[in-house]
Order: sequence, then C-alpha cells, then structure tokens
Amino acid sequence: MSDIYDELGVKKLVNCAGTYTIVGGSRMSDESLQAMAEAAHNHVTIREMQAAVHRKIAELTHNEDAVITAGAIVGIYLCMAGCVSKKFGKPLKHISKEEIAKSEVIMFRAHRNPYDRGLELLGVKVVELGYPNNIDIVDEATLENAINDRTVGLLYLPTTNGGWVPPGALEIQKTIDICKKHNIPVVVDAAAQLPPRSNLWRFTEEMGASAVAFSGGKDLRGPQTTGVVLGKTELLRWVNENNFPNYGIGRMHKVGREELAGIYTAVKQYMEVDEEARLAEAEEMVSMFTSAFGPSDAFHFERAYPNEAGQPLPRAKLIIHKDGLQAEGLRDRLYNKERAIFSMVENGFLYVNPYTISMEEANYILDVYKEFNKEEM
Ligand SMILES: *Cc1c(COP(=O)(O)O)cnc(C)c1O
Repeated sequence: MSDIYDELGVKKLVNCAGTYTIVGGSRMSDESLQAMAEAAHNHVTIREMQAAVHRKIAELTHNEDAVITAGAIVGIYLCMAGCVSKKFGKPLKHISKEEIAKSEVIMFRAHRNPYDRGLELLGVKVVELGYPNNIDIVDEATLENAINDRTVGLLYLPTTNGGWVPPGALEIQKTIDICKKHNIPVVVDAAAQLPPRSNLWRFTEEMGASAVAFSGGKDLRGPQTTGVVLGKTELLRWVNENNFPNYGIGRMHKVGREELAGIYTAVKQYMEVDEEARLAEAEEMVSMFTSAFGPSDAFHFERAYPNEAGQPLPRAKLIIHKDGLQAEGLRDRLYNKERAIFSMVENGFLYVNPYTISMEEANYILDVYKEFNKEEM
C-alpha cells in the first residue's frame, strides 16, 4: 500500500534500535492520532486547553502538577528558567542578563551530557561537582559547601540499573534531601527512564524532587515533539509563567492543541499498559533470537539486560564468530534491505531491541539474520 513516505520518496524503517529521536522515537497509537485529528478541527483557548491537560496528566501520574513542553530538553530548560524565576519571584523576562548569569545551577560532572546545552542558552552559571568516575565520588559535604545564596537549582540525571551514566555523583535521595534543607529545587532529567511507569511519580512524590522531565515521544508514545514535566506546583507555576503562549523564552517553544490532545491520550493509555505482559513479550522476542543460532553458526545472540538507558527490559545482543564479519557491515546490510531494518552499533555490538518492534517485525528481522547466516556459512 502506497503512503505519504512513498509519495515523498522517504525510506521506511523497521526500527529495532530503540526509541531514538533520529528515527522518530516511538509510534503513536491510533487513539492518540485520533485525538490529535479531533483537536485540529476546532479552535480553543490554548491556556484553557493547557490547564485541562496539565491537571489531568498530574492526576493520572499521581503528581501535584504537570506542564507539557516541546520535548524533554525544553522541559529541562524551562524548569531551570523556572528555578531562576522562583528565586527572584518574577518571570524570566523581568530578570536581567547579569542576574541570570550570576545564578548558579549545580550539576555533578558525571551527569553532563549533550542534552544539557539548554543551561548555556539560558545563561546561568553551571557549577560542576566531582568527576565522571568512581575514584572520588561526591559526598554530602561537597554538595553542602557548593550551595550558596546564588544557587537556584540542581539538575540530576538518574539512571536505573546502570545505563550510560558514569559513576561519580552523590546518590539521588541524599542530593534531594540536602537541597530540600536549603530550599533548592532539584530537577530530574528522566527523559528515557520509562518503563517502569512508577518513575512518573517516584522521583517527585516519593523522593521529593521538585520536577522531573520525560520525553513524550519515547516510551510514552506521544507526539515526538512533546515533553512531560511533572512535579510540585511551587516550581511548576514558574515553569508555566515562562512557557508558551506567554511572551518570553517559552514563546519560541510552542506546543499546539493537537500535540496537547495527543500527549494527554498517550499518558492515559500508558497508565493502562500491562507491564508484565509487555516484559513477557520482550523476553519471548529475545529468546526467539537467542535460540535461533548456535556455536557453529556465523554468529549467535545472547540476552542482554538492562536496556540501552538502563530500562528494565531485555534485548538481544549479537555475538559474531566468523573472522572478518563486522557489526558495522551487518548494520549496513540490514539497512540496505528492500524492507529496511534500522539498528545501531553500540560499543562494537549490534542489538535487536524489542522496545520498538511488533512480533511480525521481530519475525521478519529474524528471517533476515537467518538469510545472512546462510550466506556467511
Ligand atoms: C532523549 C533524552 C533527552 C531529550 O528528550 P527530547 O524529548 O527529545 O527533548 C534528554 N535527556 C535524556 C537523558 C534523553 O535520553
């Protein structure tokens, strides 16, 4: 069946890498797409639509408050701007560049990552603590001594079960407790930390962080252009104050009524996902791959856990036996198939990630690997 991608001449991909933004994150449900189409049919007041969606999402996720932003990065950016506003008690547009530049945001060096450029854009001073390794892990006294009357907030990058965050930071609960004592908001970047669904309220309601940002377009399966900020009204009211459609820095990060309808529906559905059934299906897919090849084949698969960013789901890791056969070469051959398969090489290894594929796609990918194995024998 011919579709919009065929009309545009854009290659369609079976994505077994994961919820990567470069290939569109995740796939929206028919219900969420339907909600977007319905929202597009009528005009509404954006502020009224935002208020309704924010209230419902806060309720669904057991949080005090919620703000929808143009992606998780914008969520973090607006949260840090909210921290500055909270400190000065006014919208960012009324705070001078000099005052912003003197405002300090604390980050552990182990948590610096390509998504935190928003801090630079905002113009705050980033105070880095510790090292991205385990030889001198930040302790409570180091954080205590870094907090002063210019500190406006702390940005934390958590990881569940490992993932790609190096050691070196003070642990999250201790960080939150110390910041709380000094009335400093902690903002958590948990963009890719789903599942488990309980993370939607764990960092904020259970641990006491002021805000947490999730990507709407990753596991939540909302519009790729959305971010979900959850947390305490005390900070989120300032996030809203600087947010679209108010004039100021948030005005250039607009989220339309269609996306608001789409992410609301996606969050509602996410709260109903059967997490055990999903894990069982992922395990079934992984075992299809691990049982298909053996030591006498050109390669075999083994179960790897946890997933790429530490999410509690397994994936299948390709182990190559044949001399001269390389992960990069296989990745390119998968991509060049008539029905193209997108996967990524991570630290030298190719994976099949059940995160973003259907059973039909898993079977197709397995058939292609079987064909490659035959060609290599
Ligand atoms: C994906 C990701 C982001 C960015 O999320 P967007 O919704 O694409 O803006 C930020 N931080 C981390 C840790 C991520 O994995």
